[in-house]
Amino acid sequence: MSGGQRLFGRWRGRFAQAATTAAEPAASVSVVGLQVWIDDQAIVQRLAGPLRSALALPTHSSTRLQDCVQPYSLLVLEGEPADWQAQALDLDFKTPSGGTLHTRGWLQAQPDGWLLQLFDIGDLLQHRQQSVRAERQRHLTSHLAAALRDCSIECLGRVAQEQLQWLVHHWRASGGRILLRGEAGWQTYATSSDPLPWPSDEVLGPLLGRLAPGQMTSSADDAELRELLPQAGAYLLPYAQGHCVQAWLICVGAHEAMVAADALNACAAYAEPLVSRLAAFDLQQQSERLDSLQLQLGAGWWQWRLSEASLQLDPGLAATLGVPARLTVSQCLSRVHPADREAAQLALAELQRDGCALHLNVRLLDNNVQANPRWYRLCGQVRGSGQQRRLQGFMLDISDIKFQQVQASAAQARLENLIASSPAVIYIQRYAEGALQAEFFSASLQPMLGWGAVGEEVLQPAQWVHPEDQPIWLARTRTLLREGQVRSRYRLRDHLGGYHWVLDEARLLRDDLGLPVEVVGIWLDVTEATEAAERTRLSEERYRVLVEDSPAMICRYTPELNLVFGNQPLADYLECSTAQLPGINLGQWMSAAQREAFVERLAGLSVEQPVSTAEICLTLPGREHAWWVWADRGLFDEQGRLLEIQAVGRDNTQVRRTQQQLLQSAKMATLGEMATGLAHEINQPLNVMRMAVVNALKRLENGDVQADYLQDKLKRIDAQVQRASRVVDHMRVFGRRSEVEQQLFAPWQAVEGALSLLAEGLRGKGVELRVETPAQALMVSGHQDQLEQVLINLMVNARDALLARREQQRELNPWIAVRMQASERQVQLLVEDNGGGIEPRLLERIFEPFFTTKPVGVGTGLGLSVSYGIIDAMGGCLSAENAAEGACFRIELPVHSTS
Ligand code: ADP
Repeated sequence: MSGGQRLFGRWRGRFAQAATTAAEPAASVSVVGLQVWIDDQAIVQRLAGPLRSALALPTHSSTRLQDCVQPYSLLVLEGEPADWQAQALDLDFKTPSGGTLHTRGWLQAQPDGWLLQLFDIGDLLQHRQQSVRAERQRHLTSHLAAALRDCSIECLGRVAQEQLQWLVHHWRASGGRILLRGEAGWQTYATSSDPLPWPSDEVLGPLLGRLAPGQMTSSADDAELRELLPQAGAYLLPYAQGHCVQAWLICVGAHEAMVAADALNACAAYAEPLVSRLAAFDLQQQSERLDSLQLQLGAGWWQWRLSEASLQLDPGLAATLGVPARLTVSQCLSRVHPADREAAQLALAELQRDGCALHLNVRLLDNNVQANPRWYRLCGQVRGSGQQRRLQGFMLDISDIKFQQVQASAAQARLENLIASSPAVIYIQRYAEGALQAEFFSASLQPMLGWGAVGEEVLQPAQWVHPEDQPIWLARTRTLLREGQVRSRYRLRDHLGGYHWVLDEARLLRDDLGLPVEVVGIWLDVTEATEAAERTRLSEERYRVLVEDSPAMICRYTPELNLVFGNQPLADYLECSTAQLPGINLGQWMSAAQREAFVERLAGLSVEQPVSTAEICLTLPGREHAWWVWADRGLFDEQGRLLEIQAVGRDNTQVRRTQQQLLQSAKMATLGEMATGLAHEINQPLNVMRMAVVNALKRLENGDVQADYLQDKLKRIDAQVQRASRVVDHMRVFGRRSEVEQQLFAPWQAVEGALSLLAEGLRGKGVELRVETPAQALMVSGHQDQLEQVLINLMVNARDALLARREQQRELNPWIAVRMQASERQVQLLVEDNGGGIEPRLLERIFEPFFTTKPVGVGTGLGLSVSYGIIDAMGGCLSAENAAEGACFRIELPVHSTS
């Protein structure tokens, strides 16, 4: 049986009814399908059969078979009908509606032409197309699923995008996008590489929520979707697991209507691996995070199926503890520190029995016995029932916390101990509605104020405040609340009624919002310090009065001589008020030399030798020279640097003046003693002059006057006048008052001055002067006239001794030797005579005032005493000794170094 006949048989059955109902004229062949009689030129002669009505009927009699078929069927109908014999002819006829009728048939020769017997094969074709499409669909889905399943998780995003692109291409659409359900709603996972203006996830998301979860939705049916999506012909395909949509695949710009089942199928093939892989990846990451968390926390789970003998430990935790992951309960308990074992046993039993939650802190022993046991927090609860009943929980390493707890409680204990033993009282006041309520006092309150147990009275410290200090207490609270901290000092009553001065340092603590919470403060008992300060103040007051009322000048000044403070007597001397004293420089009243000496003396002050006294000379405003006896005491810092000087001064001007007067009168006395010598000194030139005048007059009377002779006499007279006037001049200089301040001079000048007054007189008395003029001219500091006076005293004394001796010893050749010996630092002037010296017993008394061996009215006994004072004031020394033939007086003076 040929294929055509098989078909015929099948189609015959199908159209049998149609054939019987069709009112067709009887024909030689069964009336099924379509029969077309044509002639040799393929002109259609007649049509028959039920399909005839489905055809576009020929409009004129000469219609050819070719005119009735679709153009592509013309290929089958090439040539003459005779050529088409003995082969299956697949012809697609045009239908009046513009459609196509698919037929297959055979050409049979007929006596008067040809009969074309055709059957409708539309169903057959459709069936084949469906199976082809199903095959393609299967291929598509397996391809998609394989691609998304097989790629690595890192490439999943890229592969998803490529596959989406491929799917969109397959659907002949212009773009596609996949959105997945995320924690934050719908999120685009991949988009085909299209440049379309896709709406954002935030806009799309809510819309997706409204769509039917199990159906494909077309934009053609939904105005909002049309608006929103970038192109027409859009489809939204859900992928659901259970009732929950996990993904939406959106395809836009589809050229032809999509078959919902196929599209949903492809969507599922695409989304399912994607969703499940991402979920698996999420899960994996979550578990990794959990593991890492457990590891870092030193935590892990444990489980004990009550039907089993051993319990199970988290492998990580087991490794940390150094135990197998599966171990029996007794093994487990053996790792618990003996101190905690019983508690652990009881807690486990309770958990097992009553099923109440387990919370226990235990120490677990390490494999290393030496190591300290680690603390673990053990939590657990009962899960399941029957055979499935199990204890489940976790363990957490809390050693760090425990260690910190131990440290914190030790620190707290120390702190509490410190607070309790502190000499200060630490208190806390709670803030409530603008008021402060005492809440806590440290134990030191008892020893300080005697208030013991916290009672009603103790909680109201305001009641202890001294009545006079209550305004201070109220101001303290106000300042504290306003500024957050305060420092005040007031008196508190103790339990015996006595008062204590306390220093209160308080601080207000605030919460996160800046609202006051409590006040923390301390009370320091400063009674002793306050009373000591008061005593000091009183004593200072007394000293101040003492200083202010003292007749002595009292002051403080800096090493630069600037006054810091001075009392009234000092201000009176300086002719200003005490307030004006600070800042005044003391040096301004001193001469340059005085100032230099003063500063030098201060430089000599040290911690070991802080006191120095000197007599200073000042030139005060509108006054003569003032002499002050000045005592300085240096104040030093820790490094021994001079900070300030305290000084007490006494005006010594009067004493000085008296001394000067004494000197003067001594000088005058010397002059008096020298009177005979001086008379001789002046007489001598007068005698010479008188002789010259007498001789000149005689010559004039005799008329024997020559000019040369007169000139000679007058020159002699002139020389004698000069000599006499030199003596008188020097006497005048000598008789003058000494300069106020010491001067620099060469000591030999004084020797020469003394000799100018005495030499002639001595020679006149037959005393030989042995003077050795020195080579060097060294300088000493002092008053030249005073040294001259000393030398005169010595020479006059020598003269007296010599003259006295000569009276007994006529043959004596009296002499006085004056010479100078000098070293680098000292000058010695020696006055020696051959007057027999001083009796050794008297040697130490001769410098006493009023000691004299001379008869009354001759000696004053002051000469040597005054001389000693003068040399001493010059920083030198006057001494006497007996030499070979007489006395030898030695004046030692310090050489003034010019450097
Ligand atoms: P005055 O000359 O008025 O007695 P002085 O003080 O000068 O007072 O001398 C005191 C005494 O020292 C003298 O009286 C004398 O005895 C003794 N004296 C002083 N110089 C000499 C001397 N060169 N030789 C011996 N005795 C002397």
